[in-house]
Amino acid sequence: MLVLGVESSCDETGIALYDSEMGLLSHALYSQVEVHADYGGVVPELASRDHIRKTLPLILEVLDKAGKTRKDLDAIAYTAGPGLVGALMVGAAIARALAIALNIPSIGVHHMEGHLLAPMLESSPPEFPFIALLVSGGHTQLVRVEGLGQYTLLGESLDDAAGEAFDKAAKMLGLDYPGGPRIAKLAERGSARFSFPRPMTDRPGLDFSFSGLKTFTLNTVMEHKDENGQLSEAVAADIAASFQAAVVDTLMIKCRRALRETGLKRLIIAGGVSANTELRQALEAMVLKEKSNVYYARPEFCTDNGAMIAYAGCQRLLAGQFDEGGLQVRARWPMDELSPVAE
Ligand code: ATP
Ligand code: MG
Ligand code: FE
Repeated sequence: MLVLGVESSCDETGIALYDSEMGLLSHALYSQVEVHADYGGVVPELASRDHIRKTLPLILEVLDKAGKTRKDLDAIAYTAGPGLVGALMVGAAIARALAIALNIPSIGVHHMEGHLLAPMLESSPPEFPFIALLVSGGHTQLVRVEGLGQYTLLGESLDDAAGEAFDKAAKMLGLDYPGGPRIAKLAERGSARFSFPRPMTDRPGLDFSFSGLKTFTLNTVMEHKDENGQLSEAVAADIAASFQAAVVDTLMIKCRRALRETGLKRLIIAGGVSANTELRQALEAMVLKEKSNVYYARPEFCTDNGAMIAYAGCQRLLAGQFDEGGLQVRARWPMDELSPVAE
């Protein structure tokens, strides 16, 4: 089954072609980072307009790269939520219109299920059941995964998401958006000499809180500014390293706790922050001691992309699901409302 995937939930247009027999055939991504750079955040109306401009050209590009035409498509999967409603609408309307024109089924995919399944696109993917750590710009969740669509939320952030914390801390250090990769790069030259807290690790439970780290970062920045209000690059690098170490350590401790409490031996990490090298190394070291395994996607499939949507949609289509009823997208959509897929 050849499935076209369309991702447009935020500020990235991601398109991909996934074949159930051959695997991923082609993919393309367009990031709107520059469109929103002057505004200090994603402007929903500008995001929608840019998706309108990019979606069809990228669909033609992935078909061309794979040596396919639209007549070869068996189905179309698109992100139906959660995300920016206008941005989601663009992808959903294009995907559904194209499916109707080609007389093939379409399916609306949950963006976080897409992220969660992205490690399945790699060689030797994990078997169910496993623990999933979803760490992205909008989510920090620990989920017990029994099978496709069988998700139990074990814990989540009570305030900022991990990626959001990276982005805000980066801003305080004068770094551009997205902050995660920039903090990681700056941290390479620093040492984690400031003792940042490891929020909520000293009490039971699997919830997270990252807003305190933000305040701690701001205070540390303020304390070390010189008389001209400047922060030396060396100190900025040390703050970046200390902040990153605190986030990584906190995530590692909660993942270890989730493995121990459930007795599961497999951990997957997904979402933009799962691209972080320090996080991967810390989790690799932890699972070794716990006699467990950790799985993640290649870095470009950790952040938003069309491949994960094509893959997730394909799994549900293979199980007989497809869109029925009118065009619908959802800004909010708790993942445990998803329907389980029978084996
Ligand atoms: P959501 O998926 O929750 O709707 P999103 O789609 O905006 O949010 P993603 O695209 O999955 O989030 O990830 C983007 C986030 O990942 C940003 O906050 C970014 O700073 C962070 N990020 C990306 N690469 C890294 C990295 N190497 N280290 C840390 N954080 C990173
Ligand atoms: Mg994004
Ligand atoms: Fe995302």
